[in-house]
Amino acid sequence: MKKTKKITILIDAGHGGQDPGSIGHKGLKEKEITLKIAIKLKKLLDNNKLFHAVLTRNNDSDLSLKNRKNFLKHKNPSLLLSIHVDSSKQSYVSGISIWIVSKNRMHREINNIIKNKKEKIYFSKSISDLFKNNKNDVDLKKTILDLQFNNFQTMEIKLSNYIFQEFKKITKVNKEQPNYASLEILSSINTPSILIETGFITNFSEERKLKTISYQKNIANAIYVALKNYFQN
Ligand SMILES: [Zn+2]
Repeated sequence: MKKTKKITILIDAGHGGQDPGSIGHKGLKEKEITLKIAIKLKKLLDNNKLFHAVLTRNNDSDLSLKNRKNFLKHKNPSLLLSIHVDSSKQSYVSGISIWIVSKNRMHREINNIIKNKKEKIYFSKSISDLFKNNKNDVDLKKTILDLQFNNFQTMEIKLSNYIFQEFKKITKVNKEQPNYASLEILSSINTPSILIETGFITNFSEERKLKTISYQKNIANAIYVALKNYFQN
């Protein structure tokens, strides 16, 4: 029987421990909701032969950005999914949104790697071989990393569309396009990365919904179905 390699998804539940994240008007803490959705999503993914899911935290522990990013090095996932809950000074603002890394940030990361300003990065074998055989060819290195980043960004945008499609069936989407940001957690050179804001904790109705197990399940399921549809195609 042919054994196919599972797709490893790293699920990062935002905040935790001393860091509650955003807090709703009724006292709901972002760190609790992100963890609950992350655990439910892991269960769904692990029940599918296609996937293997890894959590950056599975309890209310403190986790530095560095520790979260260390998972990327050691687990080498096909995708990083960071789960968060949004907040706003205006309580009427609501809906789900998706964030991916900006081109500017990624070009900065690529330049730092080429100038060796970054700690050692573990590239895939094909890339590390190319780098080894062309140690001093800066242009070639830059071209390869740019190409890889473009591929990742195309994937992030496609996958975001799949996620929006599923979210639209269960809740309000704040903006049906990914937003671009210079976020450290999304800036890995080797892993496509998406951050999902699963609604606004500062919106009364969304805070009420986010607290319920059924809504957390719906969110986790929407993300799961999107991942399944994306990776099966
Ligand atoms: Zn957050």
